Amino acid sequence: MSASSRTVSSTTIRAGHPFLMRVEKGQRCRIVDTKGNEAVDAFFFNADDPLERYSAVDTIRAQKNVYLTKGSVLLSTENRPMLTITEDTVGRHDTLGGACASESNTVRYAHDRKFMHNCRDNFLHALIGWSDGLTKRDIGSNVNFFMNVPVTQAGGLSFEDGISGPGEFVEMVAEMNVLVLISNCPQLNNPCSGFDPTPVEFIVSEDD
Ligand SMILES: [Zn+2]
Repeated sequence: MSASSRTVSSTTIRAGHPFLMRVEKGQRCRIVDTKGNEAVDAFFFNADDPLERYSAVDTIRAQKNVYLTKGSVLLSTENRPMLTITEDTVGRHDTLGGACASESNTVRYAHDRKFMHNCRDNFLHALIGWSDGLTKRDIGSNVNFFMNVPVTQAGGLSFEDGISGPGEFVEMVAEMNVLVLISNCPQLNNPCSGFDPTPVEFIVSEDD
């Protein structure tokens, strides 16, 4: 936030909880990893036309890199800028790992993990209350802020311990009116949240 900006809202997203908010064009949103080593799964819709939404593949192709950091422009399925990352104290955010789900927990870990709290259910829970009738069909490949999913030389993915510490943050400016959908990841089966999910802060600001 610059010296001439004012805070519009500040919300604590509790550990493991979902969150949904409309952010107006020109506003900035900052996600603060308050305790460190948290994974924040996020997906974005054009708030005025939710059929247009974040496109991981267009974002990756346009910036020629699979990680997001300062300067990254998150593109929509219409190839239009949705948000630009303006500040990033971590340096690398995941575009490939996707959201944890009861199905993936079952396949990756054990059948009795099927009923554990997960990001996909969080996304659905948050969407239920939204007026545009969004459903599970509307959720695409998401961003994982603060999550460490390095790509190996052979092109493999691995879920590693996080590289984000307490108070680290990422800030974006909205390039259109954006609906921000977040799951503060409750995952307990891999190190993406340090086996100890913690709260994050979502702060919206705008220039005076
Ligand atoms: Zn998750």
